Amino acid sequence: MKAVRLAGARKMELVEEPEPQICGSGDVKIRVAYSGVCPDEMPFFRRDADMLAWGSVIFPLAGHEMSGTVTEAGDAALKYGFTPGTRVSGYAWKHCGQCDYCRSGKENLCMHLKPSQSTMSEYIVWDMSQLIKLPDTVSFEEAVLTDPIGFSLHGITRANMQLGDNVLIIGGTVPGLILLQLAKMNGANIVTVVDPYLTNRKIAQELGADYCIDPTSENIAFHTLKVTHNLGYNIIFETSGMLDMISIAAMLLAKQGVLAYGCVYGLNKQPPLKLSELFIKEASLIPFHMAPYMLPRTEKIIGKLSLSPLITKIYSMEEATQAYMDCETGRYPHILIRINP
Ligand SMILES: [Zn+2]
Ligand SMILES: [Zn+2]
Repeated sequence: MKAVRLAGARKMELVEEPEPQICGSGDVKIRVAYSGVCPDEMPFFRRDADMLAWGSVIFPLAGHEMSGTVTEAGDAALKYGFTPGTRVSGYAWKHCGQCDYCRSGKENLCMHLKPSQSTMSEYIVWDMSQLIKLPDTVSFEEAVLTDPIGFSLHGITRANMQLGDNVLIIGGTVPGLILLQLAKMNGANIVTVVDPYLTNRKIAQELGADYCIDPTSENIAFHTLKVTHNLGYNIIFETSGMLDMISIAAMLLAKQGVLAYGCVYGLNKQPPLKLSELFIKEASLIPFHMAPYMLPRTEKIIGKLSLSPLITKIYSMEEATQAYMDCETGRYPHILIRINP
C-alpha cells in the first residue's frame, strides 16, 4: 500500500509498505479516506531535536487524524457494529484500560498510552476503543476533525466553563474555531477570537464570534476592558502556540479566571509569566491535551458543529511536503491529505 512518511527535515515522501493485518479481536482495519495535517506535528516536520526525541515515542509521526471505511474487523469489534462498510473516525492513541487512571475513567492520563499507526496510509488497523461511527450527515472531510473536537470538549470541561462566562480564544486554529462554537453552545456571554490573519478572523466571524481582533494592529487589553466592562475574561483558551501570548493572556483574565492552554510550546521553553498576576486574581493556569474519553461525546456532537469552513486546503499524497509547509505558516485552520476519498 501507499503511505506518506517523514523523510528528513521539511520533507515527506511517498513510500510502499505492507498492508497492516488484523491480529486482535478488537482490531478494525480501515481504508483511510482523508488524513489531517495537525500543527502539533510541525516540530517533527522541522526535526526540532528535543521534540523529535519525545515525539518519536508518543506520536504517530505522519498523521494522527483520519476518516475512512471499515474493511475488516475482529470478532469483538464486529459484535460492537464495526462491520465492513461502516464509516468511522477516531483517536490515534490506544489507552491500556488497566492502569490506575484508566480504571478511574481518566483514560486521557493513561500511564501506557500508545500511538497507533500513522494515518497517512491507505490502510490502518486501530482498536475499536479508538473509533467512533460517523453520522450520515458528516462528510469524510469533516470527520477528520474528530480528534480536535474531543480535545476542545476536554478543554471546555477542564476550564469548568459556566453559563454567562466571557470567553477569549487566542488563535483562529482548528481547536480555537471549535472552542468558539462549543463556548457559544455552552451559553457564553461574549466570545472574542484573536488571530493575525484576516481569513481566519472571517471564519470566526461566520461561526458566531462576537468580536475578532487582529493582535498586530489592535490593542487587546483596551478592547478587553471595553467589552467586559473592566472585568476581564472568565476563561481564556490559548491555542496559538505562541509562548508570549501566555503572559498577555494572564493580564486579560478576570478575577478567579481560568487560562487554559492546549499547546506544548517546545519542551524547554518558559513563558515570561508573572505568578503575582495570577495570585492577585486567584486565577488558574490549566493545561488540556489528550482526550480519548471524549469519543462518545464527540460521536454525539460532531453533526452539530460547523466544520467545513475549517477545512481550507486539500492535497494529494504526492503533495504532502507542500501540505506540511502550508500548515507551518499558521495561515490555514486545517489542511487535509486525500488518501482514498
Ligand atoms: Zn493533532
Ligand atoms: Zn491506562
